[in-house]
Amino acid sequence: MTSVATWDDLLLGDELAHLTIEPAREARTAPLPQSLQPSLREALARRGIHELYAHQAEAHAAAREGGNVIVTTGTASGKTLAFNLPVLDTLAADRHARALYLYPTKALAQDQARSLGELGVAGVRAAIYDGDTPTERRRQIRGWANLVLTNPDMLHIGVLPRHDLWGDFLHNLRFVVVDEAHVYRGVFGSHVANVLRRLRRLAAIYGAEPQFLFASATITNAGELAHALTGEDAAVVEDDAAPRAERTVALWNPPLLDAELGLRASALGEASRLLAGLAGRGLRTICFAKSRKSAELIHRFAIDRLDAETARRLAPYRAGYTPQQRREIERRLVEGDLLGVTSTDALELGIDIGDLDCAISVGFPGTVASLRQQWGRAGRRGHGLAILVASEDALDQYFMREPPALLERRVEAAILDHANPRVLDGHVAAAAFEAPVDEGDAATLGPEALERAPHVPELRHTPRGWVWAGKDAPAARVPLRSTSPDAFLVVDASSGDVLGLAERERAYSTVHEGAVYLHLGRQYLVRELDLEAQRALVEPFDGDWYTQAKKETETAIEEALRVERRLGLELSFGRVSVTEQVVAYQKKAVADGSTLDTVPLDLPPTTFDTESVWFVPRPHQLEGLETMPLLLSSLHAAEHSLIALLPLWAMCDRWDIGGLSTNLHLDTGAPTVFVYDGHAGGVGIAERGFARFEGWVADTVRLLEGCPCERGCPSCVQSPKCGNLNEFLDKAGALTLLTRMSNAG
Ligand SMILES: [Zn+2]
Ligand SMILES: [Zn+2]
Repeated sequence: MTSVATWDDLLLGDELAHLTIEPAREARTAPLPQSLQPSLREALARRGIHELYAHQAEAHAAAREGGNVIVTTGTASGKTLAFNLPVLDTLAADRHARALYLYPTKALAQDQARSLGELGVAGVRAAIYDGDTPTERRRQIRGWANLVLTNPDMLHIGVLPRHDLWGDFLHNLRFVVVDEAHVYRGVFGSHVANVLRRLRRLAAIYGAEPQFLFASATITNAGELAHALTGEDAAVVEDDAAPRAERTVALWNPPLLDAELGLRASALGEASRLLAGLAGRGLRTICFAKSRKSAELIHRFAIDRLDAETARRLAPYRAGYTPQQRREIERRLVEGDLLGVTSTDALELGIDIGDLDCAISVGFPGTVASLRQQWGRAGRRGHGLAILVASEDALDQYFMREPPALLERRVEAAILDHANPRVLDGHVAAAAFEAPVDEGDAATLGPEALERAPHVPELRHTPRGWVWAGKDAPAARVPLRSTSPDAFLVVDASSGDVLGLAERERAYSTVHEGAVYLHLGRQYLVRELDLEAQRALVEPFDGDWYTQAKKETETAIEEALRVERRLGLELSFGRVSVTEQVVAYQKKAVADGSTLDTVPLDLPPTTFDTESVWFVPRPHQLEGLETMPLLLSSLHAAEHSLIALLPLWAMCDRWDIGGLSTNLHLDTGAPTVFVYDGHAGGVGIAERGFARFEGWVADTVRLLEGCPCERGCPSCVQSPKCGNLNEFLDKAGALTLLTRMSNAG
């Protein structure tokens, strides 16, 4: 067991922005329910489980009531047992009962299958059914298993369209477990919400009404998320009763090198210093970086700081390791042979690497839930140390100055919109393929599905309802991670592998010729963008520059759905169409962001419909800012800083959000700022901004007030995705405007 003093002398200096100790907490326990099946009780006893945490008992009791349940407690709080108990209890008691477990990745499904196997409850027959399952095994699994683990993609394309093969399983389906539910947000979540509705409908057709059991990282809107995913209410279990060891939390800000420009020392360098320092003290440490390149650099820098003997005990940990390689690293960590591991976020999703002393996150990983998951690896038994090393990004720097916004507030919400027609239509077609859709299906598919049916091509109305009149199975045409079937394939030319999809409206700015494209933390260079074949050919890339597209954007207001008087002005939420034309790109140095080259591009404009929040400042709010270009620069800077902080309120990436500011908009006839969903149709991000406008603006005022730069920097008003390449930005003007708005509230 380590003592506090071990790292105390490392955490000194101006870089330490905040230090706090989260106290240890005793477990609150509850007895195992009397009603548990003997075989389950025995299996638990073999694992040394003789009592439950209170929240596990609460989840079990709620599930026994027959309704849906969502458990949203901390990392390593035993959420798995919370949903396993009612499921295994039922399977052990009723040999006909069936359960379906959904995991967002194959690796997580494998981990769960392994631990179910180890638990070894008599009567429970678990099997994985995914894209890797050999065809000859599939039929056997459908007949034999009573607990099937799969992923949403397989359910969508492989199971639901072939429900005739699953008739017996669906008829007896009692539970659907959705683990890591917070991952189902945004575009992916909006699709999965429709997949789950289709599952509910087919189960109903076969005479079953399964209960949904969700487990999620800590979010503020668990009940809302469960409802959005299924269309049904769920009991929320959120009172975490698991024990917690004492934990030191440190927020670490690389030193400011140039206050005027807001330039800071490298986060990678700081992280390697901390990693080397901790490992050098014999503390087992994991360090999370956002890209493989960063992880490798941190590893290399840390080794350089250590003697050969200690350096040998550091290792990088990559996605793509085989289970054996993973076990080997885990074993070496547990035995203390390995001291330091550097990883990308690939490790983040639940995979267990044992109990470590320290966790370092380099750059805010995008959500508080992810950060907590990374930190959760530190000191599960003894006193642990968790560190966030800030990048120059605005949100990171905001947290350094406003630690309670990171450590105390719980505002993050997982949001989605299953009714976005761009998402929904494909699922209406898929549902009609699975069975004719009629009015009665509104109960499971949602009324919106019936409203969309007449608009979906290849559906025909018959006396039995809407039926599929096309040839192939429509589900295969609906990718779950895009709002548009009109997507470009991103192909690694060196291996032929498909790396991903880019919606047309994003392809031109992210995979244009010459773009540096990031995928799972690796860099690729786009060799060719084929507009006809809708394909981008990329190759692995090791250069030290990145690219930023220059584009011209216009918005047109299609319909204001809500208009309210907020913060002294007229705030609107509604539908807009966005037209973008990518006209050039810049190559920028990774080291300092300096521009190396500007290259013109000849690409057609694209237009998409989406949802937006927009506002027209009142004349007195713009007093003194009316002249050009000050007016435009103030609005533009306000737009950027608002976009930087919206992910704090709606779990998303700033790349999921777009914006436009103009001194004169044709539709409003006045200076206007738009912040819109970057995905066609919208997935609820702008709507969340509308709902939480006051808090969002107040945060943004604090961001601008607190940034030490003189006239704007990457940590406040500059944006890595600005289509104007960060020209025309006035920090002071933006602060004046937003402060006046905030004071009006
Ligand atoms: Zn700044
Ligand atoms: Zn901009």
